[in-house]
Amino acid sequence: MNRVLAYMAHPDDAEFLVGGTLFRLKSLGWEIGIATMTAGDCGSDRHSKEEIARIRLGEAEAAAGFLGAGYVCTGLMDGEVFMNTENLRLVVDRMRSFAPDVVITHSPVDYMMDHEETSRLVRAAAFVTAMPLYLTRQPSPSAVTAATPALYYADPVEGLDHHGRRIYPDFYVDIAQVMENKRTMLSMHRSQREWLQRHHGIDEYLNRMAAWAQAYGRECNFAYAEGLRQHLGHGYPHDPVIQSALGTQVRLRRRDIGRPDPA
Ligand SMILES: [Zn+2]
Repeated sequence: MNRVLAYMAHPDDAEFLVGGTLFRLKSLGWEIGIATMTAGDCGSDRHSKEEIARIRLGEAEAAAGFLGAGYVCTGLMDGEVFMNTENLRLVVDRMRSFAPDVVITHSPVDYMMDHEETSRLVRAAAFVTAMPLYLTRQPSPSAVTAATPALYYADPVEGLDHHGRRIYPDFYVDIAQVMENKRTMLSMHRSQREWLQRHHGIDEYLNRMAAWAQAYGRECNFAYAEGLRQHLGHGYPHDPVIQSALGTQVRLRRRDIGRPDPA
């Protein structure tokens, strides 16, 4: 049985970006874990940091529970997710406690720093987690069983980099049949949904997620889709683990999408 860990910056990022893919993998019998760098302690205009962190941890646990996944928080603060020695050791420790075969994290380029630094931390952690001499509180893997997990990147939020340019996935996952599950899981982050409802007056939280999934779907002829890229640098597994597992629920990006206009 495969074990996939979605390691993201904040509570609700995994739901927004790869919630449908996680439901698809769950239905194949995969073991699912969700980890976040922070508890979302700056995500409120009416609670204290401690209150909102407690509320959002509860929401993240409940949402993961709905998916049938485990959840763990790394314990960093919003806005202070940085690639450094101390944080890397924490991330490797969390990663070892789940022992994933596959890891999904943020796009290396995204609209916000917490997401980009999470991507760097998780990429580095996926590499050193298999090193027996890299020590954390969790026992190091033995030299025999150590294996680097396959690494995937979710689409950046809205599919855009910090210059507003589209970043295209390598492949799309058909999430039409699990769209209701993704919607329910995201709606369990009630504090964030209500915050946006107060500000925008409409259910922007769920509507925006559905609009993005529909927009990605238009690029690959699925009703709703999520996009992913695989990290293919030296030392990381190149086997298309997710693509092979999901089979016909995956469609590669058409070669003409994302290319400059011939004109
Ligand atoms: Zn986030």
